[in-house]
Amino acid sequence: MKDFFGSMTGRVFLTLLLGTLITAALTQLAADYQRLRDFERQRDQNLLERAEQLIMATEIVPASARSIYLDVANRPGLELEATDTPDQHRPATPFSQALASRLGKGYTVEAATIRPAACGIAQYQPMMYGLLSLKWGGTCESLHVRLRDGGELRLSVLPPRSPLISTDADMRAVVALFLFSIAVLAYLVARMTARPFRQLAQAAQDLGQDINRPPLDLLGTTEIRQASAAFNAMQARIRQYIFQRTQMLAAITHDLQTPLTRMRLRLEKVSDAELQERLIGDLSAMQEMVREGLVLARSMDTTETMQMLDLDSLLEAVCADASDAGQPVTLQGKATMAVLGRPMDLRRCLGNLIDNAVKYGRDAHVCVDRINGTARVRIRDSGPGIPRSELGRVFDPFYRVETSRSRESGGTGLGLTIARNITEQHGGSISLVNHPEGGLEVTLMLPAYYPNK
Ligand code: ADP
Repeated sequence: MKDFFGSMTGRVFLTLLLGTLITAALTQLAADYQRLRDFERQRDQNLLERAEQLIMATEIVPASARSIYLDVANRPGLELEATDTPDQHRPATPFSQALASRLGKGYTVEAATIRPAACGIAQYQPMMYGLLSLKWGGTCESLHVRLRDGGELRLSVLPPRSPLISTDADMRAVVALFLFSIAVLAYLVARMTARPFRQLAQAAQDLGQDINRPPLDLLGTTEIRQASAAFNAMQARIRQYIFQRTQMLAAITHDLQTPLTRMRLRLEKVSDAELQERLIGDLSAMQEMVREGLVLARSMDTTETMQMLDLDSLLEAVCADASDAGQPVTLQGKATMAVLGRPMDLRRCLGNLIDNAVKYGRDAHVCVDRINGTARVRIRDSGPGIPRSELGRVFDPFYRVETSRSRESGGTGLGLTIARNITEQHGGSISLVNHPEGGLEVTLMLPAYYPNK
């Protein structure tokens, strides 16, 4: 849940939902308010007409029968009764003034100080499906009316007895449906908004593993199309840059091959056998360096396509090749999973690590297993390991530990750099530790391949 609200989809969903709900609530509030005020005005108008008719009709009835007549003539909202004692009056109200002008000359209408008891009871009217209430603003008062024949009447204008705006269960069902549809809509819009960003993020992640991945489709809104086009342009520029670098290295290597071969031929003519041997050693080192340099460049710009590989078979083949070449290698465990990779590159990576183990640690013990869907390949040797302070640096190109340089083990300092490049291109990681029981242990983590993903 926390992940959802931390994601773009979650945040857009929440913003849309809250925004729509607040807007809907305010609109409903304004509409209910307006409706209530309209009700009040209409009801006052209606009561005014009815009060006029009732007073006129009462005047026709003989004074002695007026009480009996009014008992049956009164209707909700208005109460007219005969009285002998006029109430104390106060300044004219809009209702009393309107009634006086409707009745005309000969009648007296005065607003009474005392108000009907019902005014206090029906003070509030529910609004917004009963969530809020608003004070009743229509007329609620008592009036004293003197007829032309001198008869005295008390007129009580009363508030409505039931709520004017419905709060029944039907409305609640409609509101629930409304909320549900807003939530669904907000979720769909949020997903739609976040999808292009997810695709861009995925593309950026894939780019790290495969610079030759197909360009993004230019779909969606203008901004997303622009971002996708910029991303495609960036990918093309990086690819071009890597390509040029590889071409340059390949050209240098190629051009160096000829003079190196020529030098080798000329060395045959050197008469001093010891000098000749040393020069041939130096020449071999140079040739090795040139070759490894090219491999390094190619490990960044490979043309080999990714394919589904059985990791166990690949390891078996690499270890068998090493054994055939006379290297003391053992293989233990199984990953029983597929990885998506370039077989030649992965072979080179594992080969480099096994070569190092044999070269610097006498032997190589390869152990493979699986942790949380990730393959773990550990290559351990029986050598001295690498001093702690050097562990982080041995991945740097051309970096060699001092002892290896003096031992003239024939390396170029590129083997681990190439291995790390290849591993990272496969979405994996590589780390080195000195094993507590001696020897260096290289751990390679490679993600599993799920075809449906
Ligand atoms: P190279 O082997 O060509 O010198 P690498 O990049 O493969 O280059 O290794 C860099 C350095 O790391 C080596 O020079 C060596 O000192 C050290 N190293 C690599 N593997 C081992 C190992 N298994 N045991 C001890 N030292 C190692």
